[in-house]
Amino acid sequence: MGRIQSIYSFSTVDGPGARTVVFFQGCPVGCIFCHNPDSWNFFGGEEISVTDLMRRVDRFRPFLPSPPGLTLSGGEPLAQVEFAVEIGKKARAEGWHVALDTSGYGSRMDFARVVKEVDLVMFSIKHPLHQERITGIKLEPVLENLRFLAGLTVPVWLRYVLINGWTDQPEALKALGNLAAELPNLQKIEILPFNGLAENKWADLGWEFRFTQDQKPVVTEEDIKEAERIVYAQMKAYRASAACMAIRS
Ligand code: SF4
Repeated sequence: MGRIQSIYSFSTVDGPGARTVVFFQGCPVGCIFCHNPDSWNFFGGEEISVTDLMRRVDRFRPFLPSPPGLTLSGGEPLAQVEFAVEIGKKARAEGWHVALDTSGYGSRMDFARVVKEVDLVMFSIKHPLHQERITGIKLEPVLENLRFLAGLTVPVWLRYVLINGWTDQPEALKALGNLAAELPNLQKIEILPFNGLAENKWADLGWEFRFTQDQKPVVTEEDIKEAERIVYAQMKAYRASAACMAIRS
């Protein structure tokens, strides 16, 4: 059994192609920009068995391209390890392509168990240097799990939310480039613009949203392009310098 917040039948922004998304209930990360704050409460949402969940997502399968995609998102799937592992096993056995959308926050052992049961890991780095400024968690366990991924063959997407004044510092983007360069299995980097669409959800919960109308950062397409330029340039430089060091030694 596990707890879910919701199921989205058809999404084109939660992994490759069109997919069904299961949003897990419960998240310990506490991002100040969270688009889904009603998923934080570990006792909220709906309790459901893996069998019933699979029965429900199977209804959407005929409308998805083949192989059908299923993304485990949240909330934080790593906070319900057994549930995530069992869904991954069952879904893959039934022919689904399974992606994990995660903040990477969890013990190494839990992370390894879940990652083993999926076909793609979408890893959201919140801030590669000062994560504590925008979340309630420490950075080190997240980086350890990311480094662990570098030793596996499972494809990885790195995701990063660009927030002007919060995550757009050149040194942060360069640090992101270095992390990306260390992943031989990196398939894609997605730099996503901050959007303040969750403001009402925060208000409904009675919580203060940091980015209200007058302080809402506006992230333009140009900002995204510039961030991508810095990240890719740094990635290239890092790999070139690593290759030089390898030749010298
Ligand atoms: S990890 Fe995701 S669900 Fe959790 S607080 Fe951050 S954005 Fe929200």
